[in-house]
Amino acid sequence: RTVHSKVDGLKIFDNVKVDLVAPQELALQEHYVQRMIENGFEVRCFESIEEYISQKRSLIADKWYFTRLQLGRMSDDMVKISGKLRSMVTANRDVIDKMGDDFLFYHPRPTFKWDPVITHDLEDLSNNACNRQSQNGFLIRTALSGALAGVPYICDDFDGEVLEKKVYHDDFVQQIACDDKGPKEYKQGVKPIENGVVIDHIARGSSAEEIKYHISEIEKILELDGVGGSWVAKSKKDPDTHKGLIFLPGYEGLTEKQKKRLAARSPNCRVNVIENNQVKEKLLLHMPEQIYNFKQLDCKNDACISHSANGEPMSAHFYKKNGDFECKYCETPHHFKEVWKKE
Ligand SMILES: [Zn+2]
Repeated sequence: RTVHSKVDGLKIFDNVKVDLVAPQELALQEHYVQRMIENGFEVRCFESIEEYISQKRSLIADKWYFTRLQLGRMSDDMVKISGKLRSMVTANRDVIDKMGDDFLFYHPRPTFKWDPVITHDLEDLSNNACNRQSQNGFLIRTALSGALAGVPYICDDFDGEVLEKKVYHDDFVQQIACDDKGPKEYKQGVKPIENGVVIDHIARGSSAEEIKYHISEIEKILELDGVGGSWVAKSKKDPDTHKGLIFLPGYEGLTEKQKKRLAARSPNCRVNVIENNQVKEKLLLHMPEQIYNFKQLDCKNDACISHSANGEPMSAHFYKKNGDFECKYCETPHHFKEVWKKE
């Protein structure tokens, strides 16, 4: 959290330069690094403090911000090498003495009594700004808690920008005209479907192998229980392009929940409802603006509070962002293929 909050928080400054110092195992997630770059920061990455201070002094930052290592959230394999990882991001007297008088270091507190990332002999140095930071933090947290709790006078004079509540629309289903060029024969193999549902345009443009994989995933997610069948076809307009079809004979339509899951798993597919050999209804499914409340969903970040293995009451919830889904809780971006529980 300490570092994640800086990703947007540092935008209040101009010309921000950030040097991220951490071994790969502890590194800031890539999507946060990308967001820093998008926010206009100059970002450099280093594996350890040793590597960082081997540069010319003029290239080294004057302000260092330490964080606690989240050992409790590390896998067993990482705990085994935690001593080595910690040493890569620990500052001792030798390191600080090299930096000179203009240098300041910070830490959100509390620090670990054992194996702290700032050794105890640094407590009384004039470069140590941790206590001042805690004092500021106390006042800011008091004000924020008061504002959240609705203490009347705390925010009365606030004239800054107010965050607008984002509204999510639920209009991912688009009705499209059924062309009336006579009966359209949706054939699975040779036999046309008389009555039922045909899902068309699945993974259009992917390879036949990929399309088969998408189809089997969709069948699971829609809980079709082996009903119907599927087909990989060449597009009539462009014979080099493949697309997948799922046939559900006897179906009168998909439920709203099935439509939403299908729209999330296969954006831009078409659902055709066929009655007496005629396409009665044709729907184009767009990627939904948010998806949640389905047991098939899971965040791929196993440190996320919503990850199913963590047993917390928050269940997976994703918002559409830049053509992908973003986890509501940890902001990890997911391709639409990735929001589903692995079996
Ligand atoms: Zn998450």
